[in-house]
Amino acid sequence: MTKTEATAPRKRLFVTLMGVTCLIVVAVIFLAWWIPNRGLANIHPSLPHIVGIIMVTLCGIALLGTGLLVLTTALGRDIFLTRFMRLVVIKFLLPVIEFVGKLMGVDRDRIRQSFVAMNNSLVLSQRMKVKPDRILVLLPHCIQLADCEIKVTGDIHKCVQCGRCSIKGLVELGRKYAVDISVATGGTLARKVIVEKRPKLVLAVACERDLTSGIKDCYPLPVIGILNERPFGPCFNTFVDVAKVDAVLGELLEK
Ligand code: SF4
Repeated sequence: MTKTEATAPRKRLFVTLMGVTCLIVVAVIFLAWWIPNRGLANIHPSLPHIVGIIMVTLCGIALLGTGLLVLTTALGRDIFLTRFMRLVVIKFLLPVIEFVGKLMGVDRDRIRQSFVAMNNSLVLSQRMKVKPDRILVLLPHCIQLADCEIKVTGDIHKCVQCGRCSIKGLVELGRKYAVDISVATGGTLARKVIVEKRPKLVLAVACERDLTSGIKDCYPLPVIGILNERPFGPCFNTFVDVAKVDAVLGELLEK
């Protein structure tokens, strides 16, 4: 999976909603200035100008921030303050964009998918190179075949590689790159594994809901999210395109 395949076209939705949010913010800032402006001159004649300058500055920051974010993800380069932009996107923009998306009738899972793509784009734009022992691949337990008699939670290498689920290919990848792969049965266990292993980067496979909450909870730790496929519904016999995991590892690992 190349950088482009990791993030596009899903991030377009996030960028569109970000643009709409930015316009709303600018409109609100303008109204906040324009409405009380009439009374401000009664307090002091220069007050409307001072407040106007502050409002224009705030509008400029909102527009510049959006432009910079779009440029960073479009070029795939760490232009300026990418880490700070991740903070803004994860902690502030996502809740606002989810709200705006809801008003516009956009499906919440589509927004989450788009958020994950945007997050991946920002992490990849930093062009990090990570040693194999500092990267952690986290998998959901539903990726293992439900009928399998071996339980790989705790030790993925117990898998006897029958090939009936994605675990086989992931074990092979773990060996190929000498990276740690853990299967977590929930968010609490995933957090415990991260605290124990102290990785520099996490590559997580999960549904859009778990990836979104995981990315938020882990910040500032960078997380690349890969969506699992769910042909039998949520949390049952899911699988992942191992080639996507392979491509991301190939791009991030120190040679
Ligand atoms: S590939 Fe491994 S985990 Fe999956 S069903 Fe076969 S033995 Fe079980």
